[in-house]
Amino acid sequence: MIFKEEILPDFAHQLFDDSEKVLKFIADVKWEGGFVCRKCGHTNYCDGKTPFSRRCTRCKKEESAAANTIFHNIKFPINKAFYIAYNVCVLGNDLSSYNYSDQLGLNQMTCWKFRKRIQNCMLKIENNKNVPIQTILMSEIK
Ligand SMILES: [Zn+2]
Repeated sequence: MIFKEEILPDFAHQLFDDSEKVLKFIADVKWEGGFVCRKCGHTNYCDGKTPFSRRCTRCKKEESAAANTIFHNIKFPINKAFYIAYNVCVLGNDLSSYNYSDQLGLNQMTCWKFRKRIQNCMLKIENNKNVPIQTILMSEIK
C-alpha cells in the first residue's frame, strides 16, 4: 500500500458504482475548509447546475466538484476514474491499462492517460509514503 488508507474499502466499493457519491465525496474533501470562489474570493455560494457543484453568489462563477482536481475534464464516468485512482493509490495494484479497459469497459487509451495522470501527480509529491489519497485526488491538473 502506497498511501494511507483513509478511504475504507466498504466506502470505496460504494463509490465504484455511483458517480454521484464520488462527486459528493470529492466536494466534501475539496471544500472541507469552506468554499472560496476561485475567481473573486467570495465565500458564499448556492448550488450549481450539476450535482455537488457550487456557484458563487457574488460573481456567479460556478465550479464543479471535479474542476481543478485529478478528475478535471475527464470524459468518462467519474466512478470509473475513482476506481482507477483507488487501485493505483491505495491498493497499489498496478494493473495495466488493458486490465482497466476490460474491467471498466473503457477505451484502453483513456485508461492509460488517466493512470498516467495519477502517476504524474504521485511523482510530484515527495516522500509520498504517508500522503492520504485525498491529496492525490485534489492535485491540480495543469
Ligand atoms: Zn465569485
